[in-house]
Amino acid sequence: MAKPRTETLAPPQVAPRARVQAMKEYHPPLGSRDSLRLDFNENTLACSPKVREVLASISSGDLTRYPEREPVEAIVAAHLGPDAAEQVVLTNGVDEAIHVLFETFLEEGDELLLPVPTYTMYEVYASATDARVVAVQADDDLEFPFERLLAAITPRTKIIAVANPNSPSGTVATRAQLVELAAKATHAVLLVDEAYFHFHGETMIDLIGIVPNLIVARTFSKAYGLAGLRLGLLVGSVDLMRWVRRVLSPYSVNSLALACLPPALDDKAYIDWYVGEVLAARADFEAALDAACVRRWPSRANFVLVDIGPQHAEFVRLMRAVGVLVRDRSTDPGCDGRVRITIGTREQMTQAIVALNQTVAALGLGKAKGEAR
Ligand code: PMP
Repeated sequence: MAKPRTETLAPPQVAPRARVQAMKEYHPPLGSRDSLRLDFNENTLACSPKVREVLASISSGDLTRYPEREPVEAIVAAHLGPDAAEQVVLTNGVDEAIHVLFETFLEEGDELLLPVPTYTMYEVYASATDARVVAVQADDDLEFPFERLLAAITPRTKIIAVANPNSPSGTVATRAQLVELAAKATHAVLLVDEAYFHFHGETMIDLIGIVPNLIVARTFSKAYGLAGLRLGLLVGSVDLMRWVRRVLSPYSVNSLALACLPPALDDKAYIDWYVGEVLAARADFEAALDAACVRRWPSRANFVLVDIGPQHAEFVRLMRAVGVLVRDRSTDPGCDGRVRITIGTREQMTQAIVALNQTVAALGLGKAKGEAR
């Protein structure tokens, strides 16, 4: 019998760029559909029913045509408040926005300034460019390391990326701090990633057009419950967005996502309800953590970072065994032993609290740790 064809093929003689050879593949953990997924900071329930109605009405014509991004960018601009539609660029999730922004601005000799720990994909996309990452470590309280970031700005700084609220910590930078950073680094772009805006309520979008080097990112993956559709956006000055558009694929945001965006934005009542639910559930869950003497960081987002210590992997495994997925952040800089837990609805977090208490008891965590503090 003839051998399968793949075995007879010689290995390819072509090598990727040196930068790519040094990169690692990024594999997000796979989750089980039957578990309560508190490991990705998504909306844990659903998107607005108005979005489902629009999805159900998609025609074949909608699918045969190439997607048209610009009319929807005008709708988003009208909703978010920038003066011109040209100040908004829709992307295939904020991940694509970060990727395209870095490809647009970062070249050899440039520095990407990052407070760490922070969102992993900044480093991943930076590693595909010839720029150098300058990481500024937060203290143990994981507060925004503002003074150290200011001091780390150099003539080579090209982008400063700040997730606000930050992940995995849930801590925030103030508007005044961000404005000062932008003012000190006028030769750089300040990216403020407001993926978790709805849970914090403070934005920089009103400063677009006032702070010339500011770019704000927003996602529809968190409060809106549309992570599977892949929908994000950048808002910035017309000049900055023009460069970004050159690099961005014209069709990276698909027709289904474009169709769903206006009803998602319009249904403010749904977002208000979901955010209210999460904030109430976060207070319940924080109270449970405190009662169990598990150290936590104050969060302004839909997740809480907790300190489990040396048994972090076992904690994640035991939580999974009782149907609750949480994310080990131990390999993040300065996060050894720490686990991030997404906050869902009050009902879901009641289930999570039962799992937490069982797991804390099984591992003998909490009490002894709390007493030692
Ligand atoms: N920024 C931050 C800070 C995030 O936590 C995430 C999601 N994990 C993203 C961006 C990516 O969002 P999206 O799903 O829109 O790509």
